[in-house]
Amino acid sequence: MLGRPSDTLGRPLRDLRISVTDRCNFRCGYCMPAELFGEHYEFLPRAELLTFEEIERLARLCVGLGVTKLRVTGGEPLLRADLPALIAGLAALPGASDLALTTNGVLLPRLAAPLAEAGLRRVTVSLDSIDEEAFLAMNGGKLSVARVLEGIEAAERAGLAPLKLNCVVRRGVNDHTIVELARRFRGTGHVVRFIE
Ligand code: SF4
Repeated sequence: MLGRPSDTLGRPLRDLRISVTDRCNFRCGYCMPAELFGEHYEFLPRAELLTFEEIERLARLCVGLGVTKLRVTGGEPLLRADLPALIAGLAALPGASDLALTTNGVLLPRLAAPLAEAGLRRVTVSLDSIDEEAFLAMNGGKLSVARVLEGIEAAERAGLAPLKLNCVVRRGVNDHTIVELARRFRGTGHVVRFIE
């Protein structure tokens, strides 16, 4: 029988991150800068993405090897069609005690409730600023911060709170707005994390 996998420091494999798409509706400069990921950039063809059945099989095998935490990510995972169906399949895996998702939040107003009903427990939202100008400068000028704040409220209503809010800090771009961000969520129970 195979031993349980561990890293070179002997730590057992507990967490599995599952990227369900390489596409995103943002163009954050530190991740998908617009000059590289422009309209002619070739994302993976659909046939090269794992199907939901393949993802569930892989997750089931990993849970059998000791994984307890599953995190769905991307790109922007909410762009993957019919995502609640995948969440339902992953939530049903015995042994996976934690199921979470990382998103930029823009599509949460439509999807937070169906995802929660499918069995999602936790959400991490990327939010680099609540100042519109700084937010647009961070995400490539794609979509208003109001959309993300609506997504956070939808996640709260769906029972996915407390949320984790990840803020990437860039000198001279959004660092002057991080106190405002911390103040906005102070006392809400949400966990704001600043990432350099
Ligand atoms: S929202 Fe996330 S996945 Fe999309 S470009 Fe920004 S950092 Fe990358």
